Formats: sequence, structure tokens, C-alpha cells
Amino acid sequence: MSPVHPAAAALAVSVALAFVSPRIGLADEGLGLPADCKPGQNCFVQQFADMDAGPGVADPFCGTATYDGHDGIDLRVRSMADVKQGIAVTAVADGAVDGLRDGVPDRLVITEADRAAVAGIDCGNGVLLDHGGGMQTQYCHMRQGSVTVNKGDQVKRGEKLGEIGASGMAAFPHVHLTARKEGKPIDPMTGRPLSQGCLKDGAQPASLFEPDVAGALGKGGPQLLGAGLAGGPLDYDALVVDGAPPAATGSSPNLVGWGWFMNLRKGDRIYISIVGPDGDIFAETMSPPLDRSKAAYSSFTGKRGSPKPGRYQMTIEVLENMQPVLSETRDIVVE
Ligand SMILES: [Zn+2]
Repeated sequence: MSPVHPAAAALAVSVALAFVSPRIGLADEGLGLPADCKPGQNCFVQQFADMDAGPGVADPFCGTATYDGHDGIDLRVRSMADVKQGIAVTAVADGAVDGLRDGVPDRLVITEADRAAVAGIDCGNGVLLDHGGGMQTQYCHMRQGSVTVNKGDQVKRGEKLGEIGASGMAAFPHVHLTARKEGKPIDPMTGRPLSQGCLKDGAQPASLFEPDVAGALGKGGPQLLGAGLAGGPLDYDALVVDGAPPAATGSSPNLVGWGWFMNLRKGDRIYISIVGPDGDIFAETMSPPLDRSKAAYSSFTGKRGSPKPGRYQMTIEVLENMQPVLSETRDIVVE
């Protein structure tokens, strides 16, 4: 074996650096969003990748916005009603279509029978893109009949691949994005292999996403999917199908203030208050601390009887250690 020439050694170092650079094979600008939507407004990161190599769970920021073995990001829309609007799933970078599937029905997985029906086709309707340099991205759970690309097509960053749906193993409508380097999943939020663990305090994420996109995707804190005044008790199971319930009117049998939340943590409390048109507190509630983290959750409070028409003010809060980490007040007119 000949000794390594200094220049060759330097070359080897630079190649090694290039290899660990998360953006190899991708445009310098970083990845775009995998959907044509506005995070926090009409789409939401429901789960990040699980960075814990063992049976535990840790999202990239050491929180609980993931589940064991999850290998990508779930960007959700609120409900199947939103799916009907046709929200585009988009390429996060230029690439070539390396594989695809369509024809799987959009059906939320709720029961064991639903689960069995999608065994082996977990991804549902999906597209696999090859970006060169060993980088691939995969998009799952697209709406049946929406895949617009063909194998071998060259696509540009931001180009439509299909639409957000709920095909395959999906309990809520979303696009699942997996990024792979040399066949192994890497976390697009931090550019790290999934087995590497979450980012400890002070560590800076080297996100594969464009900085603005990474910022918009957030770090997995609690979010409000919806809130309002309804005419009766909230049907939690209907939220993911129909979205927000109809607004209360003066002829509704009850008045109920409701909130629909995402990524609540163990110990969180929910506070809801409604102030009536006369300025008095109409209803108020503080929940006990949650016994475990909740990917999605709803809460409501109210009173029987038709409400007096007028302007109501609803305040809704998520509290951690009795400090609000999310707080929103809405004026709502009941007609
Ligand atoms: Zn997923």
C-alpha cells in the first residue's frame, strides 16, 4: 500500500465533507415545502421524524411530536373537506420521477379492518423522486386519481406531483415526506440520520429546508386547528371528516365554545371562556392536566338553551405549568 500523497489526503477530506453536507445533490437554496399550502394556516406539521433509535420517541427538537419509527414529516390539512379543495403536493427539489402509485382509495384508518386493508400499501398513492447525489424524496397518502406525473419525468422544485389525500395508512389527511440519503432516511428538519437522536440544547439544526420553510414548519409546539361557537356538543370524530361544526345561531338548542388542538403535551391544561353580549361570563372551564401527550385533541364548554343573539368573546388557551403557551381570543357574533 503506497503512502497517501498530501494532495490526495486533502481531496479525501473535502470529499468526506461534501458527503456529510446535507444538501449534496440538491439545490443550494434548500428544500421547498412538499405542498402548496401555508403552514399554521391551512396545513400543519402533525408529526416529525422519530430520532430515537430505540423503542422511545423523540422528535428532532426532543419533543413528542412524533411516534415510534416514524421516518419523515407529516404535513396535514384539517379535514377531508379540505382534501376536496385539491391542495397540491409539490416537489421539494428538482428531480426525476423514479416511481409512483395511484388508485388507492382515500379512507381514514380508524379500525383494525381499515388497517388490514392497507397492509403492504402503507404509503398509499405516492411518488418517489431522485435528486441525484444519492438523495431521494418520497411523498405518500396522495388523493386517489391525483398523481399528475409519470415515471421518468423531470420535475422542478415546487412542481405539482398530486394532491394531499388520505390513501394508505393515514388516520388524518396529509402528505408524508421521507428524505433518503443513499437509501437511508434522514431527518429533513436537521439533516441528521434518524438514529442520531434529537438536537440537544444549543445544537443548531442544519435543516435541509430553505430557512424560511424550516421556520414556517416550526418545532412541534401546540397549535390550534380550529375554534368557534357551535350549537351543540362537539363530535370529535367528525372534525377530521367535516372540519369545523356549523356556527351557533340564536335558534340553536345550546351554545358551546370549542377548540381543536394539535401536539399537546403531558400535563397541559385547556382553558376556555365565553363572555356573553352583556359582558358577563357565560361559560368557563379549565381541564385537568393531560395524562399523556396528544397528537390531536378537542375540548368544549357551554350551556343548554338557545343563546341570546349578540357579540360573544371566546378565549382559548393551552397552559403548561399554568402558563399560557397558546392563547387566542375571538369575537363571534351569534345571529
Ligand atoms: Zn408519516
